[in-house]
Amino acid sequence: MSANDNGEEYLWCLHCHRAYKRGEYRWQPSRWSAEDAVVFREEQVEQDVIEMMLEPIKICPYPDCNGDVEWDGIPWGEIRKSHPELPEVPERDCVYL
Ligand SMILES: [Zn+2]
Repeated sequence: MSANDNGEEYLWCLHCHRAYKRGEYRWQPSRWSAEDAVVFREEQVEQDVIEMMLEPIKICPYPDCNGDVEWDGIPWGEIRKSHPELPEVPERDCVYL
C-alpha cells in the first residue's frame, strides 16, 4: 500500500481541471489593500476577519489559472470515486474533465 492509494496526494483543480501534487501552489497577494482595510474597519468588520482578508492566498500552481487551493482543490481520490477509469497518479498538465 502506497501513500497515494487513497488519492490524497494529489488535488484536482476545479478551475482548470488539471491535477497537481498536494502542497504545490503559488501565492497570490490579497486583492484588498490597507486602504480597503480602513473602510472595512469603518464598516465594523471584525479585526481578525480583516487580517484574514489581507493575507495572500494559495492558488493553483499552473501559471494560467487562479483557482483557490483551499476551495477549488478537490482530492484526486474524490474525483476517481466517480471516474474510476482515471489513472491512480494523474499526469501533469493534463486536463481531466
Ligand atoms: Zn487550476
